[in-house]
Amino acid sequence: MSRQTQAIIHLDKIKQNYQLANQWAPNSKNIAIIKADAYGHGLLKVATYLQPHVAAFGVAIIDEALALRQAGITKNILVLQGVNEAEELQAASDADLWLTIHHPSQVDLVLSTQLKKPIKLWLKLDSGMHRLGILPQQYRKAIEDLLACAWVDPALVLSSHFSSAGDLTSSTSAQQLEVFNQLIESQAGCQNLERSLANSAALASIIESHTDWNRPGIMLYGLPLFEQSHSSDKALQAAMTFNTRVIAIRQLKKGEFVGYSRRWQPKKNSSIATLAVGLC
Ligand SMILES: *Cc1c(COP(=O)(O)O)cnc(C)c1O
Repeated sequence: MSRQTQAIIHLDKIKQNYQLANQWAPNSKNIAIIKADAYGHGLLKVATYLQPHVAAFGVAIIDEALALRQAGITKNILVLQGVNEAEELQAASDADLWLTIHHPSQVDLVLSTQLKKPIKLWLKLDSGMHRLGILPQQYRKAIEDLLACAWVDPALVLSSHFSSAGDLTSSTSAQQLEVFNQLIESQAGCQNLERSLANSAALASIIESHTDWNRPGIMLYGLPLFEQSHSSDKALQAAMTFNTRVIAIRQLKKGEFVGYSRRWQPKKNSSIATLAVGLC
């Protein structure tokens, strides 16, 4: 007997959506973002299936990255929020993880924790999102400090994140792009370093944001990317099918109530279906 409610994950669709990212940004490498349990689709199953097809993986926290390593994932993994403690930094080095540096305290942590082998770092600039990222006026010093450190891989990746790429009417992404490019172009030694900017929505709509590495997340799972309708809505395929069953139908008169604490009331006489899903 099968459950009446099922979320069925189509791994092949996730792969096809990833391949669309490669088509839309043919000159970039694309990191498959599988943070938050692969946006609820199952971290280990998604990673194991995608591994042969993707350039690298991105997760939010080190625990997710270490779980991937334990499950035998050998591809490069970027930890999007980096680490905050020496023990985590050591563990990241042992597991050959790539770490984001988004705050000066993380620069200090790297400088003060000697590692046995060079670690690959992504230095994130706050170009306008104002959640994570080194401030523009602190960015140059962060680069210099990291490049002077014996256990930092000198091939830093310079990155930033868009706040509003999902709104096709917003000029914010263009402004952030300008801040990022200007800062990098004006710093000696930065022009040769790799860059990373685009999330899914930018990948699908802002060609100028395509750099060495894009970071598509939500598009892999086939969800709409924009507040407005967009051609990508048709191209992406849903990675989840959600099935359930109607297990009762009743006729309610206007003014009667449904459910706990009589919270919902039909505005007219109605046929009400009860589905085999939900908390209570
Ligand atoms: C979540 C995340 C992404 C992916 O964003 P989507 O909009 O889901 O494509 C990319 N970069 C960073 C830093 C993120 O945190």
